[in-house]
Amino acid sequence: MAKVKYYYDSETLSYRKIKRKKTTTFKYATVFLTAAALFGFLSFFIASQYIESPKERQLARELQNMELQYELLNKRTDDAFAALENVEERDNAIYRLYFEANPIPTEQRRAGFGGINRYKKYEGFDNSQLIAESYKRLDILEKAIVVQSKSLDEIAKLAEDKEKFLEAIPAIQPISNVNMTRMASGYGYRTDPFTKVRKFHFGMDFTAPRGTPIYASGDGVIKRADSRSTGYGNHIRIDHGYGYISLYAHLYKYNVKVNQRVKRGDLIGYVGSTGRSEAPHLHYEVFKDGERINPINFYYGNLSAEEYDILLKKASLENQSLD
Ligand SMILES: [Zn+2]
Repeated sequence: MAKVKYYYDSETLSYRKIKRKKTTTFKYATVFLTAAALFGFLSFFIASQYIESPKERQLARELQNMELQYELLNKRTDDAFAALENVEERDNAIYRLYFEANPIPTEQRRAGFGGINRYKKYEGFDNSQLIAESYKRLDILEKAIVVQSKSLDEIAKLAEDKEKFLEAIPAIQPISNVNMTRMASGYGYRTDPFTKVRKFHFGMDFTAPRGTPIYASGDGVIKRADSRSTGYGNHIRIDHGYGYISLYAHLYKYNVKVNQRVKRGDLIGYVGSTGRSEAPHLHYEVFKDGERINPINFYYGNLSAEEYDILLKKASLENQSLD
C-alpha cells in the first residue's frame, strides 16, 4: 500500500492529505523506466566485456590455432633455410672453388626486396608482424633458391667448358710408345746432330721406323699440313683453341687436310725424315700463346705414374737431338 502523506493547513488548523497530481506520477514512472533501461544496457555492456559468447570463444580458439600454425610454419622455414645453407656452403667452398668462380657473398644470397613496402597489406592487425615476417622470410628463401639455382647453371656451363678444354689441349704422346723406348730427345739444350753445337731443342723427338702412325694429341682443327717451314719438312699444325697448338714434323706423309677437324687419337700422318732430320723420327712441339713450351707436361692422358717417370728421366737427358 502506497504511503499517504499529510500536510498542516494553518488556515483550517488541521492536517490535510497531500494529493499527488497525475502528471507527477507519470513523470516518476518515466524517470524510473529510463533509469532501469540505462542500468540494464550498462550491465549488459559491462558483462559482455568479460563474458564470451560461444561464437567469440570459437573465434578466439581459431585465432590461437592460427598463431600456432604460423609458428610451426616459421619453424619449417628455418629447416628449409638450414638445408639450403648446406647446399650454398658446398656451392661456394667446393663447386665454385673447383671451377675458379668467385663465391657468392651472403648479402647477395640473402637479399630481400628493397623499395616499396610489399607487406603493407598485412598491416593494421594484432598479428600483422607475425604474418608479414613469415611472408618476408618465405620471399627471401624463394630468392635464395633462385640464386642457388642460377649458380648451379653457371657451374654446369663451366663444367662443360672444362670438359671441352680437357678434350682440346694436348694430352697424349703423338706416337705409340708401349715400351717407352721411342723417346729419343727432350726439350731443352741438346747437341745439334749436324753442327754438334749445344743448341736449344724446342720439342721432343720420338724415334720410329718410317711409316709409323702419328696421332693428334688433342681435339682441334688442322691449321697447316705442308713443307713450307724451314727445317720441319712435311709437318702438321693443329690449333686446339685456348692458345694451344701442337706441331708434328719430318713426316713421311699426311693423312689430313687444312681446316679438317680432328679428335684426340686420330691418325694424322706417318713418321719420316723430311726436312732437317738425321734419321726417321717425329719431332713434336707444343705452343701456348705463341711460345714453344715443354711437351713433357702434356702426356698425362695415357701414361701411368711409372711410365711418366721413365719418360721424364729420358726427356731430361742432355743428349743429342735428332732435330
Ligand atoms: Zn727434334
